[in-house]
Amino acid sequence: MDCLFCKIVNKELPSKVLYEDDKFVCFMDINPHTKGHCLVIPKEHAENFTALDNDTVGEFAKLVHRIAPQVAGMMKADAYNVGMNNGAAAGQVIGHVHWHIIPRYRNDGLEYWGINEEEVSKLDERFTELDGKIK
Ligand code: 5GP
Ligand code: ZN
Repeated sequence: MDCLFCKIVNKELPSKVLYEDDKFVCFMDINPHTKGHCLVIPKEHAENFTALDNDTVGEFAKLVHRIAPQVAGMMKADAYNVGMNNGAAAGQVIGHVHWHIIPRYRNDGLEYWGINEEEVSKLDERFTELDGKIK
């Protein structure tokens, strides 16, 4: 399989690794949104968040929870985002699940998401229909 991040895991492609254990790797993003932007991935290939088993998600989240504040601290950042794009329409470019850690700095100018008030009110109606339906 021709997966860029599997190649990073297998060291067939170079990367700046911040953390590695038997199941996960954290490495610097090649095109950082802010200083210190890095990615955490499971070593075993999975296309996206949905494809992961629930136990792996638990370990993955715990690791990001541990690493993200350390990255932000090392960078002397004011805050950080953790985020994941799942599917092309959500901005996923690399088909190997990855969690972004993006240190944030006061007035760094990075803008994230956002929809207008009219769309928000339509969503409120739809959420009412969803009440209690998520298993
Ligand atoms: P996505 O849009 O799929 O959520 O994010 C993919 C991320 O991978 C982007 O932030 C992009 O800069 C990063 N990326 C793409 N190719 C490489 C690479 O070869 N090496 C590293 N370190 N990061 C990469
Ligand atoms: Zn892969």
